[in-house]
Amino acid sequence: MDTDQAARELRAKLAEIDEKAAVMTAPPDQAANISFGKRVGDGTQMAVDRMAQVGVHDKLLRTREDVLRALAKIEEGTYGRCDVCGELIPEARMEALPWAVLCVKDAAGAGGR
Ligand SMILES: [Zn+2]
Repeated sequence: MDTDQAARELRAKLAEIDEKAAVMTAPPDQAANISFGKRVGDGTQMAVDRMAQVGVHDKLLRTREDVLRALAKIEEGTYGRCDVCGELIPEARMEALPWAVLCVKDAAGAGGR
């Protein structure tokens, strides 16, 4: 597995998560300014659905933990192996979720993330 490329993808994902989380946690008027010029409707959508947003924010933070863990696993040399059972995570799953740190079975056991 090309861990250099995986590390690049993970760092890009981390930056994307931090950017999204920053927009979400900013006060509404500030958030509107941040998203202005990016995609029309972002600010409106945020104001409309705060509850869904909290869920999305929690999910973002969980994904962020996985991305950090996956980066640590690259350092450790265990990238691509499940944190729980130590089995190799199928390549298709790693391609779909480069920050996957659990196999499908253990991910389901951990609440489906
Ligand atoms: Zn496992």
